[in-house]
Amino acid sequence: LVTLQKKLAQFTTLEEAGIILRMDKRESQIYGQRAMQLLQRAKQALCSKYKMQIVEPVIVEIFPDQKDFAIRTFGLPGGAGFLGVCFGKVITANSPASQGAHPSNWEAVLWHEFCHVVTLQKTKNKMPRWLSEGISVYEERQANPSWGQSMDAQYRKMILAGELTPISKLSGAFLQPPSPIHLQFAYYESSLVVQYLIETYGIEMVHRVLDDLGVGMPINQSLQRYSGSLPELEKKFEQFARKLAEQLAPTLDWSEPELPPRPGLAEVKTWLEQHPRNYLALNGYAQLLIRDKKWAAALEPLRLLLKEFPEDISGGCAYELLSEVYRQLDDQKAEQATLEQWIQRDNDALSAQLRLLEIYARQENWQALARVAELTLAVNPLLTSPHQQLAAAAAALQQPQRTIPALQALLALDPRDPADVHYRLARSLQKTGKHSLAHRHVLQSLEFAPRYRDAHRLLLELVKSSKPTKALPKNSPPPRKNP
Ligand SMILES: [Zn+2]
Repeated sequence: LVTLQKKLAQFTTLEEAGIILRMDKRESQIYGQRAMQLLQRAKQALCSKYKMQIVEPVIVEIFPDQKDFAIRTFGLPGGAGFLGVCFGKVITANSPASQGAHPSNWEAVLWHEFCHVVTLQKTKNKMPRWLSEGISVYEERQANPSWGQSMDAQYRKMILAGELTPISKLSGAFLQPPSPIHLQFAYYESSLVVQYLIETYGIEMVHRVLDDLGVGMPINQSLQRYSGSLPELEKKFEQFARKLAEQLAPTLDWSEPELPPRPGLAEVKTWLEQHPRNYLALNGYAQLLIRDKKWAAALEPLRLLLKEFPEDISGGCAYELLSEVYRQLDDQKAEQATLEQWIQRDNDALSAQLRLLEIYARQENWQALARVAELTLAVNPLLTSPHQQLAAAAAALQQPQRTIPALQALLALDPRDPADVHYRLARSLQKTGKHSLAHRHVLQSLEFAPRYRDAHRLLLELVKSSKPTKALPKNSPPPRKNP
């Protein structure tokens, strides 16, 4: 605990309009501003939607080390699987640094947690977990359709198999769920209940329920009050959820293929001839074709899957396989289109985002490059390449305001060529009129590369443009390194 306190004391604090953001110093240089902007957007949108004023500052702490997050959050190590937790006024979250190779979209995580701040404060912490999670997941989807959970093959199956928990018992679904999938499903179902309530009765009904909870009324009583009949509400909700499940890829055959374990290509092919629209068999068939490098043959089943089931973003989905096949076939136009569709659906498809960055950089398609770079930074701002690409694109688009934070982030990421980055940052700062900062960075550039001609030229421009009294004397001593 002592070491955690020491680390926290070394965190950088950003403060703006009622939000105090504490982060590791280096991470704060890389994406602190970006995180603050996101939190401000969340605060504005969610407070206005839920008619809530947050008076006291909200404290947000982002931990690069999962152990520190766990100790700060739960008082003991563990808690893997939690990306963020909210305690009314305080949010703790894991940074992408602690999430390994497949980090989650931290923007979605912070949005979700901030929504808890709003609903917990509105109800004075007197709300059932299901409603709090339901609203947070629902609001993720509202903020960005690719955030938050959505209907997938697994949830479809569970709903149609009758695994929905009745609304009046939803709190229980979060206590001792039989598996991690069941816990996830509880979040998803809760978000569907919220969606159903808002679509059927309007957001005002949710406001009233939250107010009732705040004065201590039990949730089921409040729901009964506004729906007329809780059992009727449960029945209608189940119909709503079933309909959503049935609407997922309705033209596909969802049955389990009657195939031996680890079937061969020929076996799957023969079975598919009798069942040409079977989801699992089509997917398995495409995977076997790809394994055998039969790229062209894999096109047909994958195109069919994508057309009939565009919602699928699970591991090994048609987007993933088809973009790989197009890449192997050297069809970049089709590959690019598939990757674009994929990232519209899936907010943390990092591999797709990184591949698109390569493609757009080669095409010098600056608008698209900048757009995808920003999306990539929402998943992992600690990678170098999206900042590099964003800096290049924004410079080409003559957007120094957008170039500056990207170059500042690059500096905190130990770039290979710091002289170049300092120089480009100085140029952008000059363009926005920040001459003294530009001056400082051009000098830093020259420290790394004393004979860098462009940097000398910029230095001269900066000296000339500043007032004579401020200009450096001709034989000024070399600049000193920052302590
Ligand atoms: Zn939550």
